[in-house]
Amino acid sequence: MQTKPINQLDFVDSELTSFVSHLETSYLDQNKGAFIVTANPEIGFEAMQNPRYEAVLSSADFILPDGIGVVLVSKMIGKPLQSRIAGYDLFTSLLEKADQKKKRVFFYGAAKHVIAETIERVKRDFPGIEIAGYSDGYVKDQREVADKIAAANPDMVFVALGYPNQEFFIHKYRHLFPQAVAVGLGGSFDVFSGNVKRAPSFFIRFHLEWMYRLITNPARWRRMLSIPKYVTAVLKHERASAKPQYTGQVKDQSRHL
Ligand code: UDP
Repeated sequence: MQTKPINQLDFVDSELTSFVSHLETSYLDQNKGAFIVTANPEIGFEAMQNPRYEAVLSSADFILPDGIGVVLVSKMIGKPLQSRIAGYDLFTSLLEKADQKKKRVFFYGAAKHVIAETIERVKRDFPGIEIAGYSDGYVKDQREVADKIAAANPDMVFVALGYPNQEFFIHKYRHLFPQAVAVGLGGSFDVFSGNVKRAPSFFIRFHLEWMYRLITNPARWRRMLSIPKYVTAVLKHERASAKPQYTGQVKDQSRHL
């Protein structure tokens, strides 16, 4: 799978359908595990501030550009990514695959009533899925959940704890479920269960989902600042790394001037 680097992180340069068929043939059909990060600008910015988080993201098999801010910045630095691949769209596409292939799926994250409603909808809309287990996202001992996942032997694990927790969790415990495709999904269960509305298609089509979120949940405005902060930080980093470096050779030549 082709990737392009944006400030140390290698983003998948593809679009949803091709990415999902790649996952299907090279991972799901082979019972091979993978760690997938769906990185929006907030995640990208956090990685720039926190080297430990950056290392965790770098250990993932795939980092998807989940946000128009990431695609935009890729174009600005001359490494254009083909398309945004939204975590929520990946989630529903993988549910379809799991339904067709009768895969075992574990769901971890969100409030108790949200996970219960998520499971209800999965049973209703994707009857081919074998629910390997589930847990809300507020269990004190994460190790307990990791052991539960390991015992359930799932093909897919969806972790919706919000960042950076979900990535730290997958990174720390994926060795316990090495055959599973594990994805960090932020607030996807809230949307899937109908507790939070996704933006109407107009906003999605014109890449304005962030604006819809801001209008419907103004309390997020501070978090949204990470979009311009991310763009600015990446541009600054690119400019700094593009500056000519004085090498030993140049210094040697200067001696002869
Ligand atoms: N959450 C959780 N456990 C926690 C904190 C948060 O399960 O300790 C859930 C929360 O209920 C919500 C999701 O994680 O369903 C985070 O959603 P948000 O939209 O904030 O995530 P983002 O996509 O911004 O990472």
